[in-house]
Amino acid sequence: MKLRICHLYPDVLNLYGDRGNILCMRKRLEDRGIACEIMPLRIGETADLTRYDLFFIGGGQDFEQEVLLEDLRKGKKEELKAAVEDGRTFLCICGGYQMMGHYYETADGMRCPFLGAIDFHTVGARRRMIGNYAFSLSETSGGSTVVGFENHSGRTMLGPGVEPLGTVLRGYGNNGEDGTEGVRYHNVFGTYSHGPVLPKNPAFCDRILETALQRRYGEASLAPLAVPFEKAAHEAALAQVKLRRKPRRGRSSAWL
Ligand code: GLN
Repeated sequence: MKLRICHLYPDVLNLYGDRGNILCMRKRLEDRGIACEIMPLRIGETADLTRYDLFFIGGGQDFEQEVLLEDLRKGKKEELKAAVEDGRTFLCICGGYQMMGHYYETADGMRCPFLGAIDFHTVGARRRMIGNYAFSLSETSGGSTVVGFENHSGRTMLGPGVEPLGTVLRGYGNNGEDGTEGVRYHNVFGTYSHGPVLPKNPAFCDRILETALQRRYGEASLAPLAVPFEKAAHEAALAQVKLRRKPRRGRSSAWL
């Protein structure tokens, strides 16, 4: 078995070590004897996206996201939308997540028309949402607790009926108001979680890999791996989240 992973814009969208998610997915596949081919796809480069099982897009600053607009418009936009509707797996982090929606309006009022692959939009503001945070994945995505780090000005508002990736346990998530975090649409996993998010959330990583394996090979369930320190890393991050100031008035915190 083999999975082909396309790493989109590795030269532009790579905040807070987000490329570590690629290394984690490759390691967790190879530890199970599953081959993994990773192809970077940079600005100005083209490729047959139907060759790939999984797409990864990391986070970026406002100006970096603006740099992508021309490249998306030139062709990748339609191919990426087709890949989403084709059920190919995506892991999109922060700016890469915002890119999947209709638009991202920066805090300076610059509107970036993005893919429109999923019905949501994002509006930036002066006050940034920063800190260690935690959320619980929806049952569709496995139901585990994810710990991570967020740093975004964008407030993402999901369209009617669009499923969030999970529910905020502590922190801001999509917008700091409605308790949602990220998005799940077909096999697109969008999240604000930097870090990289996957090494300290192995159940989340395996769920993402399983969706890509299932699409390519039919049924696929990955047996748990006995990785030393994995649990300790998750627990240590969780302890950091619990130290975070109590949520502001008016926002229930399901867990803390
Ligand atoms: N520039 C976007 C924002 O501030 C995304 C930031 C990021 O990818 N960390 O919301």
